[in-house]
Amino acid sequence: MDIIHLLPDNVANQIAAGEVIQRPASCLKELVENSLDAGATRIQVIVRDAGRTLLQVVDNGSGMSSTDARMAFERHATSKIKAAADLFALRTMGFRGEALASICAVAQVEVTTRCASSEMGTHLEIAGSEVLGQEPCQCPVGTNIKVKNLFYNVPVRRKFLKTDQTELRNLLTEFYHIVLVYPKVQFTFAHNDEILFELPAGTEKQRIEAVWGKGTGRTYTSNFLEVKTDTDLVSIRGFVSKPEAAGKTAQQYFFVNGRYMRHPYFQKAVTTAYAGMLPGDYQPSYFIYFDIAPEAIDVNIHPTKTEIKFADEQTIFPILLASVREALGKFSLAPTIDFDREGEMDMPVRSSDTPIVAPKPMYDPAYNPFHTRSGVSMQQEKSRADSNWDMLYTIPSSVSAPAAEDYGLADDLSLFDMDVASLSVWQYAGKYIFVPAKSGVMVVNQHRAHICVLYEEYLAQLEDARGATQQLLFPEILDLTPGDMVLLGTIIDDLRAIGFDMDLFGKNSYSVNGVPAQLAQQNVLPVLEHILQSIRETGANATQEWRKRIALSLAKDTAIPYGKTMTAEEMRDLLERLFNLVTYRFTPDGKRVVVLIHDDEINKRF
Ligand code: ADP
Ligand code: MG
Repeated sequence: MDIIHLLPDNVANQIAAGEVIQRPASCLKELVENSLDAGATRIQVIVRDAGRTLLQVVDNGSGMSSTDARMAFERHATSKIKAAADLFALRTMGFRGEALASICAVAQVEVTTRCASSEMGTHLEIAGSEVLGQEPCQCPVGTNIKVKNLFYNVPVRRKFLKTDQTELRNLLTEFYHIVLVYPKVQFTFAHNDEILFELPAGTEKQRIEAVWGKGTGRTYTSNFLEVKTDTDLVSIRGFVSKPEAAGKTAQQYFFVNGRYMRHPYFQKAVTTAYAGMLPGDYQPSYFIYFDIAPEAIDVNIHPTKTEIKFADEQTIFPILLASVREALGKFSLAPTIDFDREGEMDMPVRSSDTPIVAPKPMYDPAYNPFHTRSGVSMQQEKSRADSNWDMLYTIPSSVSAPAAEDYGLADDLSLFDMDVASLSVWQYAGKYIFVPAKSGVMVVNQHRAHICVLYEEYLAQLEDARGATQQLLFPEILDLTPGDMVLLGTIIDDLRAIGFDMDLFGKNSYSVNGVPAQLAQQNVLPVLEHILQSIRETGANATQEWRKRIALSLAKDTAIPYGKTMTAEEMRDLLERLFNLVTYRFTPDGKRVVVLIHDDEINKRF
């Protein structure tokens, strides 16, 4: 008996859709790319519920005839290539003729479109690959396509979608990839009736500024250096950030022939150009556009993949490296720039990927951070500290970035029989606390020690939502970029939990009416900037992860700064609280807190 048969179109399309359309963001990418391929100069993106209920793209491109509109939704229907040879000279974003067929297999689609050569447009409705109706209509030249209830007929997929915040972030990521290559096209992006982006036509630099520079009043692109190289093989142009504008996170974008790409090998070329200019974990931002003959790159790009293969990667690497070096070389480094923020002050001035205006020192000299933890009496605290005192020399397993030389130092040491209250402590250079230990002298970095202590406190407060709020006399206004608005939306509940009293204030701002009590004396806006910055760095997806980041960021901003004189009592209190922690040798981000100078080492010197 013969058992093989061809799958019906709607089934085949649904299977294909599984590959091409994985989430609202991939659908958006396909729709916008089609508009660009149609020569649109104005593209509006309208989204509802992060694309779950509606993804609409309105363009002023070529539009389609009524027959083409119907054809467009067939599998392998495309106007962009005719023969296999065309694949090697692609200049359009699409070419597979799969996207619309896939989208209409898993959503309810409505298109209104008209091409310049016809008086009347056409309105077409398709759902689950089935044409529900088509009729002539009045409409402007261009295409207006609505994709409603994505995955309405594939419940598994629908369930698979992440939270609205996450899906919206994915949509914005796709949006960035596209708008950065088409600065001459005007874009708007609206989500739930709120316009997140209104990007006028302009230059690449203006586009970058429009996406990242707004909101906080800082100019982003003033920190850029221009890269430009033309060779027979490839032309490279774009922008890289000045070294001092680098941060732990960065905006890093490569584009080739008008398409976003990931390219770890080329990324290495760029970072190599910065060798020796940046602190260890800092990254430069870059927006680099390659132009190369289409046949020199692999065209058979999977629609969801962003890696692109170049035939001459090895040749391009040194060209790229040299052009970034040249850009950096032209820019003479001011001798005042202190890249070693680890060295003197790792506190008040934090550089970042987006140049935050250097905040004025954010601590109040009168502020005493050494108040006792609420709810725990000094006595209880002390006895706990005593009992854990011996743990000072056991190696905690949860330390994040251990340095080998820290181990083995102190194995034979023990302090547990000492009375903290009678320890003789002294402060050195406004920065270190010296404490005698049984087999040497212990040196504690006061700022980092306090970070460790505060970190645990903030984390606990976040978990039980018990941060105390101090109302501000005059609310502060936090202006944000649309991207940061989305980010803040993800963590707002946690910020409230820890004591921030914040409300939406207009489209792209929050009013800050109250702050965590520990922040009462501080300039709150930079503190919030730092929190956003640290979330941006990882794009933290899990609650736990971003709580850690909020706690760490707050701890860094509220920890006792270097240069602050401490009384013996304050020092003992800090040490007591520090050694009460499970993890105290390193800060949560892996910086050393405690160093032991062994007796042997001291004796050797005499
Ligand atoms: P591809 O883009 O790979 O050709 P699609 O399924 O995305 O495949 O689109 C099929 C065809 O529909 C395109 O080749 C194009 O002719 C037409 N089309 C799709 N979207 C638009 C649009 N916004 N404006 C004009 N034509 C469009
Ligand atoms: Mg397409």
